[in-house]
Amino acid sequence: MARIGILTCSNATQELGCSSASCLADFRKRKGAFEAYAPEEPLDLVGMINCPGCPTVIGPEKLLQRIRALTDFRVDAIHFTYCVKTLCPFKEKYRKALQEAFPKIKIVIGTHRENVTEEEFHDRVKKLFCQPRKSMVDVILNKD
Ligand code: SF4
Repeated sequence: MARIGILTCSNATQELGCSSASCLADFRKRKGAFEAYAPEEPLDLVGMINCPGCPTVIGPEKLLQRIRALTDFRVDAIHFTYCVKTLCPFKEKYRKALQEAFPKIKIVIGTHRENVTEEEFHDRVKKLFCQPRKSMVDVILNKD
C-alpha cells in the first residue's frame, strides 16, 4: 500500500477555482504520474493541501509548516500537482527542502496526464489571470 499526499498550487485552487478533479481522476485511473506505481500496489490518498502561497524571501520554511498536514499522517509519497510542476517558480526549492526534511518520503513532480503542451497551458492560464474583472473598486466608484 502506498500512502499518497498531494500538494496543490494555491493560485490554481484558490485563485482560479481548480477542484483538482483531473488530478483525482488520474489518481483513481492510475494514469499520468500514478502509472509509476506497480499495478498490484494499492494506492491510498491520505490528503491534499494547497501550498501556502508566495514563499517570500523566507522560502520553503513556510511550506515546511504547511506540509505537516500530510507528513504527520505517514505518507510514503508527496506528489506536486501538474499546476505546481508547470507554473511554480519555487518548485525545485520546495522539492529540495521537502526531500531534506523528510528523506523517507518520495517527492514526485506531477499528477495527471499532460494533455497539452506547457506553452499552451501557460497561454491559457495567462488568459484566465488577465481577463477583465470587476472588483469592489467598481462598486465604490459606481462602475459596476
Ligand atoms: S508558490 Fe508555487 S505552488 Fe504556491 S501559489 Fe505560488 S506558484 Fe503556486
